[in-house]
Amino acid sequence: MNIVVQKFGGTSVRNLECQRQVMQKVLRPYREGNKVIVVLSAMSGETNRLLALADEWSDTPDAAEVDSMVSTGEQVSCALFAMLLKQQGVKARSVLGFQAPIQTDCAHGKARIVSIDETKLVDMLKEYDILVVAGFQGCGDDMRITTLGRGGSDTSAVALAAAIDADVCEIYTDVPGVFTTDPNMCSDARKMDRVAYDEMLEMASMGAKVLQIRSVEFAKKYNVTVHVRSTFTDELGTIVTKEDETMEAVLVSGIAYDKDQAQITLVHVQDKPGVSAQIFSPLAEEQVLVDMIVQSPSKDGKTDMTFTIPRADMKQTIKTLEKLQYEIGFEELNSNPNVSKVSIIGVGMRNHSGVAARAFQALADENVNILMISTSEIKVTCLIDDKYTELAVRTLHKAFHLEDGEPL
Ligand code: ASP
Ligand code: MG
Repeated sequence: MNIVVQKFGGTSVRNLECQRQVMQKVLRPYREGNKVIVVLSAMSGETNRLLALADEWSDTPDAAEVDSMVSTGEQVSCALFAMLLKQQGVKARSVLGFQAPIQTDCAHGKARIVSIDETKLVDMLKEYDILVVAGFQGCGDDMRITTLGRGGSDTSAVALAAAIDADVCEIYTDVPGVFTTDPNMCSDARKMDRVAYDEMLEMASMGAKVLQIRSVEFAKKYNVTVHVRSTFTDELGTIVTKEDETMEAVLVSGIAYDKDQAQITLVHVQDKPGVSAQIFSPLAEEQVLVDMIVQSPSKDGKTDMTFTIPRADMKQTIKTLEKLQYEIGFEELNSNPNVSKVSIIGVGMRNHSGVAARAFQALADENVNILMISTSEIKVTCLIDDKYTELAVRTLHKAFHLEDGEPL
């Protein structure tokens, strides 16, 4: 039996008209003789609505009850969609997380999938031609409903595709695919035909919202090819897959940015063992995600320590560090909430030199000052004044000829 896995997001299932359009997409592989597993999100806005209710009811909503409630969004869209299919005479049914079963750990609100026993699904597919599975939800080993974190239906779909060893997991959404950069920021942004898992992970971690990060990690781990495409057109989207030679030939595949950053500098920190731990351990305890860190060369036993954090955590970070001023022994704390990160991303960087220099030159030509730099194998990130974000994104997009996708 050949099984096709398709996932549709919230905007794709938001009302009857859209669900009818979704049905056409689902019926196609079915009519070609395949069995279909359709994973659905809640109707757009529904998850937010439900979460707001929990906040209205309680200052500290119980996480297990929140999951029990917020998972109903997916339950509703699945049941409604199964009704549409049955009306067409298709043998279909809705399947909830615990019925699949999608087994997770018990971390409510951010549960991780532990296993999917595909034998139940395969059994159900003997009786039914289309299974409509609720995304986002799973079941802990205490038999309570869990959810996988915002955007988690993507992960449900990829995990199901991995479990049944499907050739591809199709993720239908309200955009045509993954773009070389944010089209709202750069009109030359181009839909990519293919992108490597690692590139997609970097883009998602910089805030590209098209796929949940965890779904990409899952796809990479189990080698599931993901096809991100539009519900509302027939054109091909973007294939997220493992790296190959053609991808390596391209130096830079995409430009990502994150505008919600802040920079903190501790001036004249004593340069002695243990100081970094003293600074960053209390921040880690408060779950502040520290990203770029630069320590300047020490002079007279003192050094400056500069790092970036999410802007929303700036006040808390300053408060925490000021309390420890005497212990850490810094002279001054400077903060700058008006910074953003701009990154060039590409697996081709692994085997090519001069990529970073080319990016720096392009920014220099536009007079954009770089405040900090960090690099990894497939990414170069520059911290800049946030008022230049758009200019920097466009400049880098152009410098690497991303508008036509030809290797440089
Ligand atoms: N409904 C959930 C959310 O809005 C899960 C999803 O749509 O993927 O985050
Ligand atoms: Mg989504």
